[in-house]
Order: sequence, then C-alpha cells, then structure tokens
Amino acid sequence: MYKIDNHKVSDAARAVSHLDEAGYERLYRQSLEQPDQFWAEQAERFLTWEKPWSKVHQSDLSKGEAAWFIDGKLNVSVNCIDRHLAERGDATAIIWEGDNPEDDAHISYRQLHEKVCRLANVLKARGIKKGDRVCLYMPMIPEAAYAMLACARIGAVHSVVFGGFSPDAVRDRILDSDCQAVITADEGVRGGKAVALKTSVEKALKDCPNVHTVVTVRRTGADIPWNENRDIWYHEATAAVSADCPAEAMDSEDPLFILYTSGSTGKPKGVLHTTGGYLLMASMTHHYVFDYHPGEVYWCTADVGWITGHSYIVYGPLCNGATTLLFEGVPTYPDASRCWQVIDKHQVNIFYTAPTALRALMAKGNEPVKSSSRASLRLLGTVGEPINPEAWEWYFDVVGERRCPIVDTWWQTETGAAMITPLPGSTDLKPGSATRPFFGVEPALYDPEGNELEGATSGNLVIKRSWPSQIRTVYGDHQRLVDTYFSTYKGVYFTGDGARRDEDGYYWITGRVDDVLNVSGHRIGTAEVESALVLHDAVAEAAVVGCPHDIKGQCLYVYVSPMNGVTPSDELVKELKSFVADQVGAFARPEYIQWAPGLPKTRSGKIMRRILRKIACDELDTLGDTSTLADPSVVEELIANRLNQA
Ligand code: ATP
Ligand code: MG
Repeated sequence: MYKIDNHKVSDAARAVSHLDEAGYERLYRQSLEQPDQFWAEQAERFLTWEKPWSKVHQSDLSKGEAAWFIDGKLNVSVNCIDRHLAERGDATAIIWEGDNPEDDAHISYRQLHEKVCRLANVLKARGIKKGDRVCLYMPMIPEAAYAMLACARIGAVHSVVFGGFSPDAVRDRILDSDCQAVITADEGVRGGKAVALKTSVEKALKDCPNVHTVVTVRRTGADIPWNENRDIWYHEATAAVSADCPAEAMDSEDPLFILYTSGSTGKPKGVLHTTGGYLLMASMTHHYVFDYHPGEVYWCTADVGWITGHSYIVYGPLCNGATTLLFEGVPTYPDASRCWQVIDKHQVNIFYTAPTALRALMAKGNEPVKSSSRASLRLLGTVGEPINPEAWEWYFDVVGERRCPIVDTWWQTETGAAMITPLPGSTDLKPGSATRPFFGVEPALYDPEGNELEGATSGNLVIKRSWPSQIRTVYGDHQRLVDTYFSTYKGVYFTGDGARRDEDGYYWITGRVDDVLNVSGHRIGTAEVESALVLHDAVAEAAVVGCPHDIKGQCLYVYVSPMNGVTPSDELVKELKSFVADQVGAFARPEYIQWAPGLPKTRSGKIMRRILRKIACDELDTLGDTSTLADPSVVEELIANRLNQA
C-alpha cells in the first residue's frame, strides 16, 4: 500500500492561527451543545444587522425546511462593502489578474462601493426590484463581483451561469428561474482565446420573452449583435446614474441567489440560498478554514459560476474585509507556471484550487513550479473532488515546500460553505482526508437501511441537523428538494456521497454513493482505486466504474489516460491490473482497462462517472443529461472504443 505520512499541526500554523487544538474542541462542543447561543454569538461577531433576530433557528428536516435568524434584517452588500469603508476604504478589495499576464487591476473597497451602487441604480432604473431574478453570464472580470453585489444591494436574486456554458444551457437556466434581466460581456478571454458571450446570450434569448434588459460590459470591443429595445452598455448606463444607492434591508430568509449544481449526477438543480445564514457561514468558514488575517492576499482559482466562486471569491472574503484575487485566465496559460507566477506577482498568502487542476499541473513536472519563489504562501486549499494522496503530497512538498498546511474542504453547492475541513492551527492533517466537521455540522454515516453506524466504518454521509447555509429549496420544485436530500433517510440531510470514518474520527470521502462498487461482496469506493492507479508512472488520470458481472456481481471497468509520451499496450494493461490488485487487494483487480485520451468532465472539472458507467455497461441509449459536459467529443471516442460490447 501507498504509505501516507500524517502531518501534525505545524508550530508556524499554530502560532498565527485563530484557533489551536483545544480551541476547536471547545467551540465544536459548544456549537452542538448550545447551538442557539453559539450561532447567536457568531452572527453578532461576523455580521452587521439592521434589526436583530427574534429567534435563532427553526427547522424540520423531514420537510426540508430551515430558517435562521428569523425576523433579522441585514443587507449582504452593506456587510461586504459599506461597513469596511471607515477603516479600510482604501484597502484593496479585489485584485484582478487578467488572462494576459500584463493585465491587472486593484479595486479598493471605496471603488467597489461606487461600482456596485452605480450598477444597482442601473438595475433599479430598468425596473428590477426586490425578488426579481437576474441572470449573470460573465467572464472572470471585476464586473462579475459588482453584478452579484449590485443584485444583493437591491434585493434582486442572482443566478450566475458559468461563462463556458452553451446558449441552450443559458436559456434553460433563465427559463427555469424566470430571470427578467441578464448581465454579460461582449466577450470573455480565457487562455488567449475569445469566448463569444453576448452572441450566446442573443441565441439563448430567442426563447426567453420575459427578459427585458441586457446589460453588456465591454471587455474586448468585438462586434456583437445588438437589440436597441433591450440592450444597454454597462459603461454608458453606469455613468448616467448616481454613485450612491441605499441598500434594501433584507429579511434574513430572503433569497440571495440561485445557483445550478454542476450536473455530475444528473440534471442540474437550482439551489436556492438565503441571506443571513448563508453569509454567516461563508464569512465564518473563510475566517477559520483559511485562517484569514487582515492584509493578507487570498486567491481562490474557482470560477464565479460555481458555488466555490460565490462563497470563497466574493461573499466570504469581502464580508471579512479581505483582499481577494479574481483570475480571468486558466492555470496553463501562457504556460504551466502561471499560478505560481501570479502568486509571486501579487504576493499571495493563501491559495485554494481543485484536485483536477493540481493533477494537470503535476503532470507537467516540477520545473514550472520551481521557476517561482512562492515565498509569500502560507496556506493551501483544495475542493471539488477527493484529492488522491499522491497529488496531496505533491501539493504539500513541491508547491508548499512542506511549510504550508493544506485544507481539504468537503462541501457542496447545497451546503453553501465548507462542512468537513481541517482548520490549519487545530487539525493534524492526513493526505486525502477532509478530516473533521466544521462548527455546528453534525455528520454521520448510515447504512442503506438507515441505521446509524458507529466508530471506524464506511457508509453514506448524512448531516443530522440544520446548519445556517443549508439549501432552502430547489427553485420552483420544493418536492425535488425533499425527494433528493430529505427522503432517503427521515429527518436528516443526505449528501449523496459515501465516506469512511477512521479511528481518529476523520472523514475520508470515497465518492458518490451511486458510484460505490460491490465486487464479490467487497464495497469499493471509486476514489480508492483511482488514487492507486495514478500512483503508476504511466497513468495521468483514471476513472473507475462498475458493470454487472455474472459471478462477482459487479466488476471494475477502468478508464485510464496515459501520461504524455506513454504508448498504450496490452502488457501495460496487464501490469496496471496487477498494480491495482497489489495496491488495493486482489478483489479490486479490474476486469477491463480502456485507454482514454480524454475523460468526460463537467465544466468545473469533475469526472462524470455516470456517463462512463453507461458506456461500460453498453447502455448507450440512456446516457442522460450531457449538457454540462466540457467536451462532448470525448464521449464519442470512448463509445467507439468501448470494451464491453454486446
Ligand atoms: P450535481 O449535484 O449536479 O450532480 P456536483 O455534486 O458535482 O453536481 P457540486 O455541488 O459542485 O456539484 O459538488 C459537490 C460534490 O463535490 C460533493 O458532493 C462531493 O462529491 C464533491 N466534493 C467537493 N469537495 C470535495 C472534497 N474536498 N473531497 C471529496 N469530494 C468533494
Ligand atoms: Mg451534488
């Protein structure tokens, strides 16, 4: 077996951290034993309220209902901007790093205030009011953050759609949440290529009669389609309105945004988050998990089109008065050293990215990393998928030079904020484990019959009590919320993920429950076998699914992307099969290994195993929703070369 070294809390991390080991234990215990008192204290400390709440919390998980800070009033944009003006109005709120390494900008809190107020006034002038939905289809430019905050300022509900999605995907999301306005840009720029955003909006809007306003930011100056009755330029409209906009006092339970899930497991769900509880958890986790200290530069590489971009580029950091870096480009442009160059250029202290990006960068070798200093780095983070221990060690050794703790944060669009995660000054790290629950989060493992499992064991991951940033509904379909998350097990939230808990109470996410395999009575998580495969020098990336087998019940069907320069061969297939058997156990020896030049991934970089499973089982007529695939052509290739054909 691959040897995993555990890492004790480092003295350096403990010295600066907001909490030490005992601090975590004390606060965690309080958060479960006296939840109302705990959350009231946190809500007072982290947020500025216009009117206090009358009741901290009320929930009924059997109906999927939750309410936090009932009757309390606050405005998210005031918390993220106005209240910082007196003390740090001239401090940098947003560092923008363009796709081209020569383009960047610093936006102070005072400038942010003006930008947000102006755009909010534009929306108001176009008749957008509290409760109306606004679709944001934006590149990674500061205006994306302005737009989110402008909506929040007037109580409009934003629905950010990732700028890489097709016109059809935009249309479906606009229609599903009945948006009245769209904010976009003429084009986006990523990896040196233009992305035709406004043209896509135009196509999408053919079927969206209720959209009466499109605000377009001029990013590249390209020629774009224009509709005089509906379209306005961002720069013209914002110049024509006042630079001050009073903020709407919102109820704690008023909707803040809708965000569609990534679509890894099926048709995306319009997750609705509300105001007070969401903002509290976003800001609190940003403070404790990233151990943010005033003046530090913090960089999350996600796109604002995903929940990670919402909570950890915009709302959490800005609520804490932090300096947040917003990156327009991709980690491999102009070359594989880009992230590390950006870290040096802006003296980034905290860096948060996804395993898929790390694996891609790791495949390029250590040289691009070593070409930078990274001396400013203090803390690293990861999110999105289980991180294989080998990638974790690489991140720790090569990127962080064994100096920076890694926070592996497990959470979901539906949870709004990190739920199972190390705290850098309090938690000993184990590569590949998301470690322990955040305050107020009570995880448990259930068997398929709904019995809670005790001690060191594996099972289905559930959350036993409501938390403030919990999903409130699936927009327009509360029954889907109840069916998806609150029906599998009565009275608890079902995450859809499987996990193992070890003897120290640490959680290891093993993958989606639907992806867990049962081979000759052995339950095998996809993450475990994939982690083993990528240890082999010939393997860049691997995806494991199950398909029916007469004797074993299920067998393993493995897709392997070879490393650059590796020639696939039958010998190598044999070798890899033995390798898995050695690493994991003989029962896990793969039945099939198919070479995969590319794997089907969501736009956020997650492997879509449900499609791979269909291909492995030769069930091609029921591939399901593929609209969120990054590159559909990958699927054709895999189908053509599948190994289990009838
Ligand atoms: P959909 O719900 O539409 O199928 P999705 O689940 O991929 O899409 P997200 O909400 O973006 O959409 O992703 C949440 C999921 O990502 C989690 O349920 C989990 O499977 C995985 N995940 C996120 N962070 C981690 C982590 N640190 N370790 C392991 N898995 C993680
Ligand atoms: Mg999900």
